[in-house]
Amino acid sequence: MNFAGPIAALDRPAAPMAPLIDPFARAITYLRVSVTDRCDFRCVYCMAEHMSFLPKAELLTLEELDRLCSAFVAKGVRKLRLTGGEPLVRRGIMTLFSSLSRHLQSGALDELTLTTNGSQLVKYASQLKDCGVERINVSLDTLDPDKFRAITRWGDLGQVMAGIDAAQAAGLKVKINAVALKGVNEDELGDLVAWAHGRGMDITIIEVMPLGDVGDRLDQYLPLSMVRARLAQRFTFEDIDYKTGGPARYVRVNETGGRLGFITPMTHNFCESCNRVRITCTGTLYMCLGQEDAADLRAPLRASESNDAVYAAIDDAITRKPKGHDFVIDRRHKRPALARHMSVTGG
Ligand code: SAM
Ligand code: SF4
Repeated sequence: MNFAGPIAALDRPAAPMAPLIDPFARAITYLRVSVTDRCDFRCVYCMAEHMSFLPKAELLTLEELDRLCSAFVAKGVRKLRLTGGEPLVRRGIMTLFSSLSRHLQSGALDELTLTTNGSQLVKYASQLKDCGVERINVSLDTLDPDKFRAITRWGDLGQVMAGIDAAQAAGLKVKINAVALKGVNEDELGDLVAWAHGRGMDITIIEVMPLGDVGDRLDQYLPLSMVRARLAQRFTFEDIDYKTGGPARYVRVNETGGRLGFITPMTHNFCESCNRVRITCTGTLYMCLGQEDAADLRAPLRASESNDAVYAAIDDAITRKPKGHDFVIDRRHKRPALARHMSVTGG
C-alpha cells in the first residue's frame, strides 16, 4: 500500500488552518488514535472474556486513519499516539506508521508513538524505529508469569519480556505502564519499579478507572495514595518537574535514580492542562476520556474526498470539549461511570 500520492496531496490545506483551541483556552496538540478494538489479551480490568468486536466494515481503513490523523496534524496536533485494543494486531499497521512518518520528516509532528501490550514487539520493534518512533509505552502489571496469565487471561509473560528486549535492542525508549490492582499486584509494585529502573525504563502506575462493565470494579480499585505510601516505605521520592504532555505526576526515586509516574484519574484532577482528544477505530472523536459526548468524523470523511467537512466537524467538536471529567465509581450500584470500554478509546 502506498499513501504517498493522493493522500499526501490532501495534507496540504488551501489556506493556513486555525489551531485547535478549546473554550478553556487549551490548545489541542495531542491525538490518541485507537486503530482497532481487538486484542490478543483480555485484561480483567479492560475487557470481558467474551467480547463482541465491531464488524470490519465499521472500522476506518488504514487510508482513512491516515487521512484523519493528517487532518489533525494540519490543525496543529504535534503528537500522535496509536493505541487500541492492541494496535500491533491490526493487519497492515506498519503501513500506517510508515505513511504517518512523513509528518515527522516534514517537521509537522514532534512525536509518533504507541501504547502496546508488547506481545508483537519481537516482530515489529525495529520497523517501528525505522518509522521514526522513538519512545513506546508497554503495559505490564506483574513480573509473575502466573499472575500475568490471570490478569491478561490470554497473555504470555515470556513473549512480552522478549518484546521489551527487542524494543530496547532496536533503540526504542520504553516506558512501563502498570495498573494498580487491589489484592493482585499491590505487594509487587515496588519490585516492578526496581526492575523497570534497573533496565533504564521509566514506569507509571495507573489507578484503575471505571470504564466498561467488566465485573465488580470495587474489588479492583486501589487508591494510588495507598500505593504511594507503601512504596515510600521502601524508596525515597524527590518531586520533579518532568512532563510528557500526559496526566502523570512524576517523582525521582533516589535509590534507583529512575522516574516514577502516578496517574490518578479518580483521586486527582488533571483536566486543567488537558491538551488531548481521542478518536476510535470507527472515527468517533471523544473530547474527554471521562465524558460521553462525541462527534462522528467518519461520515464527513466518507462524504467527500475533500477534507473541508472533516475540518469543520473537528472545529465544531473542539468547541464542546468539556472542562473536566466525571469519574466516579458508583458505590451503591457498583456500576461503571461510563459503559465504554478502555479498548474503545484506547486509554
Ligand atoms: N493494548 C494496549 C495496552 O494494553 O497497552 C493499548 C490499549 S490499553 C486500553 C491502554 C492502557 O489502558 C493500558 O496501559 C491498560 O493497562 C490501560 N487500561 C485499560 N483498562 C483500564 C482501566 N479500567 N483503568 C485503568 N487503566 C486501564
Ligand atoms: Fe488488550 Fe490493552 Fe485492554 Fe489488555 S489493556 S485487554 S492488552 S487493550
